[in-house]
Amino acid sequence: MEKVVLIKYGELTTKKGNRKFFINTLYQNLQKKLNNLHVKISRDISRMYIEFEENELDVVLEKMNQVFGIHTYQVASKIPTNIEEIEKNIIELMKDKTGTFKVDTKRSDKKFPVQSTEFSRQMGGVILKNNSSLSVDVHNPDTTLFIEILERFTYLYTDTFYGLGGYPVGTQPRGMLMLSGGIDSPVAGYLSLKRGIKIEAVYFEAIPHTSIEARNKVIDLCKKLSCYAEKINLHIIPFTEIQEAIYKECNLEYCITIMRRMMYRIMEQMAKRHKALAIINGESIGQVASQTLTSMNVINSVTSMPVIRPVACLDKLEIIDLAKKIDTYDISILPYEDCCTVFVPKHPVINPSLQECLENEKKFDYEAMIQNVLKNVDTIVIQENMENTYQDLL
Ligand code: ATP
Ligand code: MG
Repeated sequence: MEKVVLIKYGELTTKKGNRKFFINTLYQNLQKKLNNLHVKISRDISRMYIEFEENELDVVLEKMNQVFGIHTYQVASKIPTNIEEIEKNIIELMKDKTGTFKVDTKRSDKKFPVQSTEFSRQMGGVILKNNSSLSVDVHNPDTTLFIEILERFTYLYTDTFYGLGGYPVGTQPRGMLMLSGGIDSPVAGYLSLKRGIKIEAVYFEAIPHTSIEARNKVIDLCKKLSCYAEKINLHIIPFTEIQEAIYKECNLEYCITIMRRMMYRIMEQMAKRHKALAIINGESIGQVASQTLTSMNVINSVTSMPVIRPVACLDKLEIIDLAKKIDTYDISILPYEDCCTVFVPKHPVINPSLQECLENEKKFDYEAMIQNVLKNVDTIVIQENMENTYQDLL
C-alpha cells in the first residue's frame, strides 16, 4: 500500500486567470522545500499529490506545513481499484477506531460496478463485521471514512487537516521588510510572505551603540522567516553617522520622527535597487509615539511607495501569539539594544508637524549621508538550515 498526501489549494482556486501560475509556484516551492526527501510530487487542476516513504511522513508534514498556499490536506492510502483490496484496507484503517462512523464514497470512475451510496453501505457492513466497538451514525459521526474511486486506483482517508493557507511565496513581486530585533517586524514579515510576497530584509544598525549580538539576533530571526521562503537576503545598513547627526543637530523631541523619515528614505532607495514594489514594517497603530496616525503621516510623506503594515491593527497580545507560533518570540525578547531604543528621548513628539521636520532636516546634509550609507550596505543570504552567524561569515 502506498501513502500519499492529497493537497487542496483553497484560496488559490479563486484566482481564475492566474490559477496555473499559482499552482506552478506552489509546486516549485514544495519541490525546493522537500528536495532532500524521497518524495514524488504531481499536480492537477484541483489537487497536488505528494507520494512519500512512510518513515519520512513526519518530516514531510512538518516541512509542508511551512509552505504557503496549502488550504487543507489528507494523508491517504493509495490502493488498486479492486473491491477485495478496498475491503482489506478499510478493515485495517478502521481497526483501532471507536464510537460512531460513516462511509462516504466518491466514484469518479463510472465504470466501477457499484454505485456510490450502495458501495458506502456495503463497506459500512464490512467495517461493522470486523470492529465491534463501532456503530453507524450518518448524521454526526465521530469518524468519516472517505473512499475516492478513480479508474486505476482508490484513495482512502479519514482526517482532513489545515495547512498554512495564504498564497505561494513568489506569486507577488518583492517587498522590502524593515526587520528589527523586536517582536513585531518578524510577524509582519511572516504575514507578508503569507500573501505571496517575496521579501528582502533590511536591518539598520548603529555600531558601536548597538552590538554584534543585536545583529546576530536579527540574523536568527531572519533564519526563522526563511523557513517560509526559500532564502532571504538580509541587507545591513550602517546607520551610525546619520543617527549621530540627528541627535547632534535636531530638536530632541523630533529625533525619532526624523530618524524614521531617514529610514523610509533609505528603504525607498533599497526597494528601487532590488526591484521591490513595497516597504513592509511592523508598525502598529498607537503602539508608540512614532506610530500615531499623525506620526505615520509625517513619516510616510517622504515616500510615494506603498508601505504595508501587516500588524497595524493587531493588539500586542495578538502579535505575541503569532510570534510564538512562528517561533520568533524567544529570540525577539533577548535584551539587546536596537538603534531605535538607544537614543529614545523622554518625550518624543506624538503629533509632529511636517514643517518642523523640514526645518530640522535643513540642519545637516542628510542626502550625502544617505548616498554614503547606500554605498556601504552589507548583504547576507539567509537560509533556514544555515548554521553560521554573521561572525563566522566575516
Ligand atoms: P517591538 O516589537 O519592541 O515594538 P519593533 O521592532 O516593532 O519592536 P518599533 O520601534 O515599534 O520596534 O519599530 C517599528 C517598526 O520599524 C519595526 O517593526 C520595524 O519594522 C521597523 N524598525 C525599527 N527599528 C528597526 C531597525 N533597527 N532596523 C530595521 N527596521 C526597524
Ligand atoms: Mg513595534
